Amino acid sequence: MDMRADLLIVGAGMVGSALALALQGSGLEVLLIDGSPLSVKPFDPQAPFEPRVSALSAASQRILERLGAWDGIAHRRASPYNQMHVWDGSGTGQIHFSAASVHAEVLGHIVENRVVQDALLERLHACDLGLLANARLEQMRRSGDDWLLTLADGRTLRAPLVIAADGAHSAVRRLTGCATREWDYLHHAIVTSVRSSKAHQMTAWQRFTDTGPLAFLPLTRDGQQDWCSIVWSTTPSEAERLMTLDEEAFCRELERAFEGRLGTVLSADGRLCVPLRQRHAKRYVAEGLALIGDAAHTIHPLAGQGVNLGFLDAAVLAEVLLNAASRGERLADVKVLSRFERRRMPHNLALMSAMEGFERLFQADQLPLRWLRNTGLKMVEQMPEAKALFVRQALGLSGDLPELAKA
Ligand SMILES: Cc1cc2nc3c(=O)[nH]c(=O)nc-3n(C[C@H](O)[C@H](O)[C@H](O)COP(=O)(O)OP(=O)(O)OC[C@H]3O[C@@H](n4cnc5c(N)ncnc54)[C@H](O)[C@@H]3O)c2cc1C
Repeated sequence: MDMRADLLIVGAGMVGSALALALQGSGLEVLLIDGSPLSVKPFDPQAPFEPRVSALSAASQRILERLGAWDGIAHRRASPYNQMHVWDGSGTGQIHFSAASVHAEVLGHIVENRVVQDALLERLHACDLGLLANARLEQMRRSGDDWLLTLADGRTLRAPLVIAADGAHSAVRRLTGCATREWDYLHHAIVTSVRSSKAHQMTAWQRFTDTGPLAFLPLTRDGQQDWCSIVWSTTPSEAERLMTLDEEAFCRELERAFEGRLGTVLSADGRLCVPLRQRHAKRYVAEGLALIGDAAHTIHPLAGQGVNLGFLDAAVLAEVLLNAASRGERLADVKVLSRFERRRMPHNLALMSAMEGFERLFQADQLPLRWLRNTGLKMVEQMPEAKALFVRQALGLSGDLPELAKA
């Protein structure tokens, strides 16, 4: 016998979970499914940092606060930062941003993905939303006005509206034939956490090296400022070489690549290597279908924006669906779903294009381009209004914001 829902969300990662919470109390029968066990790990404040972290913007913080998940994050571990320093490793251009320039206390928080996920799951387990763990989607097809989904264990689910929140390798996107535009950055990212001899000063540091951007993101534990999360984007062959180094040799290379800005790199946790690929779905919606988060778009981590875009997708889609439900409209109607696409696609595309241009400019080795980026950085550094505009953009507080992200 099929299980039935008004709306089925595939993927209870950070973005799918946020959407489900945003729809609670709507009267809609929502079912959120995920291939993993969806268990919440007891948090140990002394445990090493998880290698996967996100720089959460002020807009994401507001959304998570309104969904009741921010307290669960703050009680576990969240590292605020109030400055950002970016410089060109092969020139003299540099730029510095501060929260104070826009009268804000922080630019954002660096939070381990596991922490965000657990805080959201805690809320989901506490409310009466349908949640199905160990439910891996394998097949999906139209059946009358519904979608019929088959799970790996043979169970079947049915709903007129399916939301794909199942990440960069979305099964929903593949099974429904949604086209994407994608290309390799020819970068792999090495992620890990390291301890340095100098304090990070609540600053997110990014150096553009000849082979790609290297970020030191500040992590704070018990008030100590000696840990940073590293995102080191470099060529695949260089990443392969760095992955084979022992801890001591890796720390020395990292210190050199970072020009020793935070002193000696004293130790490094286990490393993960992630191939980077930009992906953008040509459409986010079809009849009875919408894509959100990484299922719709993946972006270079130099922007630190992937999940921030995903939270805005979730908040806007929830708003569109709740408004349509209050008017008695059919939620699966592509005309209704297109309102979500119209609000999110231009914003996501603009940011992705800007980041791509930025990434290319910093990769360029030709003298005129190197001159341009150094001069450009120096010029922008002298323009407080332009910098404040950039900071407001990074806080996620400009543009067409959903109610959940508004002050
Ligand atoms: C190196 C790196 C650094 C990054 N840094 C930042 C940053 O600083 N700031 C930022 O905003 N973003 C950052 N990002 C991006 C961010 O991590 C992603 O945007 C975010 O994790 C996407 O969340 P999601 O919920 O859309 O997808 P995911 O986190 O991938 O979640 C997908 C969920 O779907 C489930 N699933 C998948 N397939 C199936 C299936 N067939 N059936 C059922 N369930 C399924 C999975 O189990 C998972 O729970 C970074 C990314 C990388 C690679």
